[in-house]
Amino acid sequence: MEPGTCYLFRSEKTAAKADSFDTLSFSTKMGTALRNSYSRRRARMEKWECTVCGYVYDPEEGDPENKIEPGTPFEKLPPDWACPECGVGKDMFEKL
Ligand SMILES: [Zn+2]
Repeated sequence: MEPGTCYLFRSEKTAAKADSFDTLSFSTKMGTALRNSYSRRRARMEKWECTVCGYVYDPEEGDPENKIEPGTPFEKLPPDWACPECGVGKDMFEKL
């Protein structure tokens, strides 16, 4: 596992701990459901779409052709990474 990945996991954990669910800790069914859906949403990595050609970067798949390992979030892509379909830079991508 490369250092960048370790750091990512650490910061995710820290962020999760920092988020307080005290207002939901009266542990009603509703509170639990909200808490569950909230953590699921955080865990899921965001997909980004190329506004030029419609290619979607899926962090869970990465971009093997460009040596981007599966699990690499869009933010961690190298600055010179380009759309595999049309070749535009990261600034042409929009979060889905
Ligand atoms: Zn593109």
